[in-house]
Amino acid sequence: MFITAPKIHDGISWLPEGSVIEIADDGTIIAIHDTLQDGTIHYDGILTPGFVNVHCHLELSHMKGAIPEHTGLVPFLQQVMQKRFGFTDEQKAAAREQAINEMYANGIVAVGDICNTTDVVDLRASGKMHFHSFVEAIGFNEMPTKQYDYAVQVYNEYAKQPVSNTILRQSNIPHAPYSVSHALFKLIDAHNPDALISIHNQESEAEDEFYIRKEGAIRTLLSSLGIDDSFFHPSGKSSLQTYMRWMSPTHPLILVHNTYTPSADAIAVQRLYENVYWCLCPNANLYIENKLPDINMLLLDANNICIGTDSLSSNHQLSVLAELQTIKQHYYNIDWATLLRWATYNGAKALQMQDTIGKIEESKKPGIVQVTDLETNPIAKRII
Ligand SMILES: [Zn+2]
Repeated sequence: MFITAPKIHDGISWLPEGSVIEIADDGTIIAIHDTLQDGTIHYDGILTPGFVNVHCHLELSHMKGAIPEHTGLVPFLQQVMQKRFGFTDEQKAAAREQAINEMYANGIVAVGDICNTTDVVDLRASGKMHFHSFVEAIGFNEMPTKQYDYAVQVYNEYAKQPVSNTILRQSNIPHAPYSVSHALFKLIDAHNPDALISIHNQESEAEDEFYIRKEGAIRTLLSSLGIDDSFFHPSGKSSLQTYMRWMSPTHPLILVHNTYTPSADAIAVQRLYENVYWCLCPNANLYIENKLPDINMLLLDANNICIGTDSLSSNHQLSVLAELQTIKQHYYNIDWATLLRWATYNGAKALQMQDTIGKIEESKKPGIVQVTDLETNPIAKRII
């Protein structure tokens, strides 16, 4: 089959005008031609590789609309903990199914999915998209063996899943700097020092306040949960500049949110770790904190920006394109060629899936998405 459109983005940049994609029935790219071929199908708008959602929590899909907007991170987390359990298994499974179908319809071909439970095991086997399941450990105490053992148990349930026609991978990860103690960071690191790590980073101002001075809303959150933080001594440095030394720099690192990350932290972590990806979830940031990261700083000081939707508890939809639209509205200096690279090729690289997806290139199988009305009201549609 031959397909073309007025503009084609290959995952890195725009292809020359008039390019035609030759594609096999199973979705494998056979070739890119520079002239029209017999029987070429013409699409309106633009064509891009399938989108990559680097950060989502499918297991929270049933919480859509359950938490009000603009509460700030700490009250938001308290409400997630209170409200996530008041649903039946059937309601939760139906919400997850609907969420993955929504992602598929919005052109998403791969997801970095945060897991605290084995709830998503069955959904992964559906073959609807590629998965990297990030199994989170949470525990802010000196002896987190119980929390670590639970996370490894969940991890093993994902790891033992048989190979399917989509990529299914998993790693053990820390939830966030304020919910994972030094001892738990060390256990996660030792599980596999090369594992792909994703962590919620500097999502609130209170996180750095806690690490620098051991004060503020995080401290209040821990005490409201009955957590004894007497073992914790403030480092006088930001969270990122502290915990980055608690793991082996061999880990490829996906830092998620970065709403309060300053330039000095971005530079420091990239000096220490070879592979750092900056995952932006702007709609969730606006939903929870009504604040966006300094994306112009990240453009200057960080290389690998990619995109996540976060969960339906902090977003109105699961659409990578809607995230790009929000960035474009607030940062009109960033061009669409760059934004689409973040959503496709960079996301694939962050999830280590760039050999299969993320780029329209011979022998890859990226999925093809049509986007219409890019400048006004962009709509994505998966065509292959
Ligand atoms: Zn998240």
